[in-house]
This record gives sequence, structure tokens and C-alpha cells, in this order.
Amino acid sequence: MSETPRIVVLPGDGIGPEIVAATTRVLDALGQFAYEERLMGGCSIDAHGTALTDEVLTACKAADAVLLGAVGGPKWDTTNPDAPRPEQGLLGLRKGMGLYANLRPVRPSPALVGASPLRQDRIAGTDLLVVRELTGGIYFGDSGRDGDVAHDTCEYSAAEVERIARTAFEAARRRGAGSDRKPRVTSVDKANVLETSRLWREVVTRVAPDYADVELDHLLVDNAAMQLVSRPAEFDVIVAENLFGDILSDEAAMLTGSLGMLPSASLGAAGDPGLFEPVHGSAPDIAGQGVANPLATFLSAALMLRHGLGRAADAERIEAAVDAVLARGLRTPDLAGDPVAPASDPGSPEETRVGTEEMTDAVLAELAA
Ligand code: NAD
Repeated sequence: MSETPRIVVLPGDGIGPEIVAATTRVLDALGQFAYEERLMGGCSIDAHGTALTDEVLTACKAADAVLLGAVGGPKWDTTNPDAPRPEQGLLGLRKGMGLYANLRPVRPSPALVGASPLRQDRIAGTDLLVVRELTGGIYFGDSGRDGDVAHDTCEYSAAEVERIARTAFEAARRRGAGSDRKPRVTSVDKANVLETSRLWREVVTRVAPDYADVELDHLLVDNAAMQLVSRPAEFDVIVAENLFGDILSDEAAMLTGSLGMLPSASLGAAGDPGLFEPVHGSAPDIAGQGVANPLATFLSAALMLRHGLGRAADAERIEAAVDAVLARGLRTPDLAGDPVAPASDPGSPEETRVGTEEMTDAVLAELAA
């Protein structure tokens, strides 16, 4: 990797350009980065007739990391199956960059635990990571219909399981670095019923001794779904195949209750660039108003620093700065006055409503402190 990391920036549509511009300001406070801004999504359809040009894909593959805002919006909604759609850019990137692992951390900021649909005593201390296999399993197997009968085939090879297991063990190791708790991977499957799950469990177990510093346990997916809501704070890294991971990562995301706070990373082979983006969409309803919450994108940049650029200390600085501004009571409108939040703790500071720029300035001030 070059000394000055080369980051392809894909602001995208809707609030994407606002939150990505805010994020490069935050990154600039941490060091030098060389940005290459490109079009992807609806804006690329307008300019080139396609959501992702070959040239942009090539630039992404040659970068050290890719930072994405969000794509889509009513302008490009269509029922014509032949018309280009913004999401095709996302799929093209995943495929073209070989991104087979999706990482979604769930760590409700202490100041926002009241936004969780769970009781505070259940959610407090939750800091988990869902690692989902992204390119195999039932979503990509043979499917078809014969009259009243339909089928979807789930298929995994040992090699596909091994590489995602390694991603999970390595992520656990990175998260555990510098902490006194032993990192743990919980592998999720349905090995009591499915043959692919038995292969999954066998391969994950075989890979585990290469990571003797990481504990491994196995959970059946139905049990995992229950435990995620009954004792979320006890999980560290959860690894699951595509379908189970899709469902569990959304269940885990809801634990925070705040869409504007959730980052994600998609990773490929070791050494290849990853793609880092907030979980939320392009929020066309608030685009251009200066009120978008940039924090999920800041936290995505933290994932980029930790998992993509090997700069864990800088990642922690961003995460701590985000926690600090929330603890001071700063809230973008999506976080302010959550109707499901219990009455504020009498000792907690008053909430102050801020826009994207003020929130960014506050994070920058924390980083400078
Ligand atoms: P959305 O996530 O864009 O918005 C859902 C609600 O959450 C909206 O009320 C929005 O204002 C709010 N919201 C989302 N992010 C916010 C933020 N950072 N700050 C403040 N409020 C925020 O989902 P949607 O409305 O279903 O989709 C809008 C468009 O985004 C669609 O075109 C959809 O296809 C696209 N989309 C893109 C991605 C992506 O780029 N990865 C993901 C999901 C949806």
C-alpha cells in the first residue's frame, strides 16, 4: 500500500455527496489521503447511461480502498426491466471487486442506547460484528419453476467457507487487539438439518486452530436469532452464510434503532481493496437540506481505516469522537427526540439539534482536542 492511501470516492446520489464531503473532512484531520472522485449510481446513469462504467470499476480495483455514499432515488425508479438502475452499480462493484464478505458492526453509542427497541439493561455493552458471506449460497444457486413446484439450490464449496471463516477470525483478532477480552467467533449454521451447514461447520472448525488466540463456538441459526435479542452484549463476531447472514445482520442492525448510525464494509481477498459505506440509502426526502446524519459514513471511514488500511488507532479516534459529540447531546434531526426513547436520564445533557455541517465541525473539534 502506498504511503498516502489512494481512496476512490463514490458520493452517489441524494444525500451521498453531502455525507461523503463531510467524511473526507474528517479523514483529512487524521492524515493525508489521495482521493479520486468518480460517478456511480444514478449520477452515472445521467452522465454515461450506465450505473457503473468499466473505467470506474478499474479505478476502484486499483485503489487502496473505496468509500461510497449511497445511490438511488425516485428519478431513476423504473418498471422497465431494460432501463439501467442505480443498484446495478452496487452489484457490479461487489462482483467486479470480488467482495465476498460483508461486515456490519453493531455498537450502539452509549448516548443512544435509549433508541434501541430493547431494554437498556439488555442492549448496554453490545459491541458485535456480523460477518456475512456475500457471493454464494442459495441466492446464487440454481433456481427454477416447474408448474406448481419451485426450487432454489444452496451450494457452498469448502474453499468459499474457508475464506469467509478466515475473514471472520482475522476481524475478531483485529477487534481484540489491545483489549483484555479474548476474541470470539460464533459460527451460525443449521447443521442439524442442512448438508451445506454440516460442511460449513466442518470447515470453520478445521480453520480455527490457525487462530488459537480466538475462541470459536457454533450456534444454530434459530437459536442465534433468539440470543441476538436476549443477550446481544455477549456476542463478539458472528459469521454466517449468505441467507442467514442477510437476516441476522438486519436483526442485529435494528438493535441500535438508529439507521443513520450504521456503517458497513465489504471485503474481498487479503490485500485487495474493500468497499466502505453506510447501511442507509440515499434519503432523497432530505437531500440538499443540510440535515443528513453523516455519522454512519464517519463510522464507515473508521471501518476503512481499521479493516482496509491497517490504521486501527485512527479508527478508534473517529469512533471516540462520534461517541463524544453524542454524549454532549448533539443530534441530527433523525436522532433527535426519538419517540421510542425513554425519558432522558436527569443527569444527561440537553439535546441540541444540529445539521450535517455542525455535526461534522463538532467531530473535527473532538479530533483536534
Ligand atoms: P433510506 O435509507 O434512503 O431512507 C429511509 C429513511 O431514513 C428516510 O426517511 C431518510 O430520510 C432516513 N435516513 C436515511 N439515512 C439518513 C441519514 N444519514 N440521515 C438522516 N436521515 C436518514 O431508504 P429508502 O428511502 O428506502 O431508499 C431511498 C433510496 O436509497 C432508494 O432509491 C433506494 O433504492 C436507495 N438505497 C440505496 C442504498 C445504497 O446505496 N446502499 C441502500 C438502501 C437504499
